[in-house]
Amino acid sequence: MSKPILAIHGGAGTVVKSSMTPALEAEYRSGLEDALRKGWGVLEANGTALDAVQAAVTALEDFPLFNAGRGSVFTHDGRQEMDASIMDGSTLRAGAVAEVRNIRNPILLARAVMDKTVHVLLAGEGAMQFAAEQGFALEPDEYFFTEHRWLQLQDAISSDRVQLDHAGSPPYEGGAAVPVSSIGTDGVVLSDRTQKPIGTVGAVACDSQGRLAAATSTGGMTNKKFGRVGDTPLIGAGTYANELCAVSCTGHGEYFMRAATAFDVAARMAYKGLSLEDAANETVSQLTAIGGEGGLIAVDKEGTVTLPFNSEGMYRGSITDSGIKIGIYK
Ligand code: ASP
Repeated sequence: MSKPILAIHGGAGTVVKSSMTPALEAEYRSGLEDALRKGWGVLEANGTALDAVQAAVTALEDFPLFNAGRGSVFTHDGRQEMDASIMDGSTLRAGAVAEVRNIRNPILLARAVMDKTVHVLLAGEGAMQFAAEQGFALEPDEYFFTEHRWLQLQDAISSDRVQLDHAGSPPYEGGAAVPVSSIGTDGVVLSDRTQKPIGTVGAVACDSQGRLAAATSTGGMTNKKFGRVGDTPLIGAGTYANELCAVSCTGHGEYFMRAATAFDVAARMAYKGLSLEDAANETVSQLTAIGGEGGLIAVDKEGTVTLPFNSEGMYRGSITDSGIKIGIYK
């Protein structure tokens, strides 16, 4: 028997207390707590780690302040294209989707790829055809739209940046509409540029049988072009799980792809005999060394959890039978 544990993240980046209001922080905390409870509900009922991470990520995708599902960032063309992946460490089965649109919960589509096909990753039009065949209903664009993300895109376009949604972006404060008087002709909020860091989401879990699983979902990076896909749907880069650990990453995807970050934690444990914590810390140091910003969450079958990051903050939380822990800042 293992000690069940679930950990989640809601993205890493420029997350500093001075740029947060108590109301906004409370909103984020409630989103994280709700996802932790949904995932924990599965583990408590003796469900699998796989179903637990799926439940937690589904809740985070539904929460509009995070960059996944509803509230995803916009591409250069003003579209919302989402990526997601899920992996079962006990069987090494995995499923992923990239560049999907109008799918309410991309993580459920990734799970369907794993369960219903002989493939691991489906992208773009093909993934959408598969979704239709599987009976996934499409949500209208309005379901995913948030004004905050739209303003973020205008800002990124005006400064010709492709950006992490929480790296130096100057979105408006709170979920309320921005007064028109505070928006410049380029659509950028001129004053009160309070940071509203929001991110990619992920979950890792160990169930009572010691099975491990990981899942990650994102809208990617604001102002991305040309069908850019990041690390999130790539098994081994943004998500990985085997019998040693389960890992979900968040940050500047190009670096996570180059460093095969999620797999790197498992490799350091297997080849160097490191503990989960030492392996994860080494992996993040390696990421820092190549200039990558972000972090990861990881669990092992002993019920150990570690949540290292090299950015200013990372939305994160964990839950066990002794309760919930939530962190945002360094
Ligand atoms: N890793 C994601 C990507 O590059 C973004 C993030 O984690 O915020 O698409």
